[in-house]
Amino acid sequence: MAPMAQLKEARYWEKLPDGRVHCKLCPHNCHIAEGKRGLCRVRKNEGGTLYSIIYGRITSASMDPIEKKPLYHFHPGSAILSLGTMGCNFACKFCQNYTIAQMEAPTRPMSPEEAVRAAGERESIGIAYTYNEPFIWYEYVYDTARLARDNGLKNVLVTNGYVQQQPLLDLLPCIDALNIDVKSMRPEFYKEICRGTMDPVLETCKTAARHALVEITNLVIPGYNDTDDDFEKLADWIADNLGRSTPVHLSAYFPCFKLQAEPTPISTLEHAFDVFAKRLDHVYIGNVASRRGADTLCRSCGALLIERRGYTTKILELNEDATCSRCAAVNNIVM
Ligand code: SF4
Repeated sequence: MAPMAQLKEARYWEKLPDGRVHCKLCPHNCHIAEGKRGLCRVRKNEGGTLYSIIYGRITSASMDPIEKKPLYHFHPGSAILSLGTMGCNFACKFCQNYTIAQMEAPTRPMSPEEAVRAAGERESIGIAYTYNEPFIWYEYVYDTARLARDNGLKNVLVTNGYVQQQPLLDLLPCIDALNIDVKSMRPEFYKEICRGTMDPVLETCKTAARHALVEITNLVIPGYNDTDDDFEKLADWIADNLGRSTPVHLSAYFPCFKLQAEPTPISTLEHAFDVFAKRLDHVYIGNVASRRGADTLCRSCGALLIERRGYTTKILELNEDATCSRCAAVNNIVM
């Protein structure tokens, strides 16, 4: 049963002459008829006005290690209040969070003030907007992030990057770090598997990297995006456009939702690691038990800066200004 939705007038939309509205938040550019919702299912035309129906509604709130987002280069070893709601502007066949992203999920209220208070009470470094796609929660994220920033807290987005440039630019001044999924460098992957387009995601990565720390996640799916050509193209694009010190997380896929491929073998991730590590300084293997790709090494001398065992983090040869205590090289880490 769907929860009672709270309506908040949306940002980034215009009226169309026939009673429909044009939502300009993400590249889908939905034209929405009276009484209907956009593709993300959480923005609704009511009487010729576009509303967010998830403002101040959450599906989950929990204190997570920052490494779980995953963000390995942002306040390592800290914890962050993580909030999510429901809906998504993609429809990835392999969605690992489909019960909240692709279905009506029960929500409960949490105002921006309550979110900021909760983060302050729990020794959180700030608030992560995560679990489902935060950009479609735009009005709430914007208000909460501004309030959090005013209260000395950090803001983190875990996102598919599918947003238009103006809303992105308006939000970025309050955002400290982002983990952005880049699912493939093949446009047809985005079209056929995700119901989206690739180029806006890459633009988001470039714009965000000019304002905040950006880490990239690539979910490796056997038979879909696991060739050497896939790995090389993505690694080259990141090195050329975001810089070779951009942290990259190679994650294992597990069968889920509408895609039933075999789970990603560790050997595939370790091979991908080798391909990426030829081009980038900080490559990680996520959500499988591999000892490779867990620690952070100095990009210059290879000293062990941060050791990780699961979500336990030990800071070793790393100074508070993110320089290596052995060779003094500056590493792309926000302390
Ligand atoms: S945010 Fe939602 S309603 Fe707006 S264009 Fe994207 S999918 Fe459509």
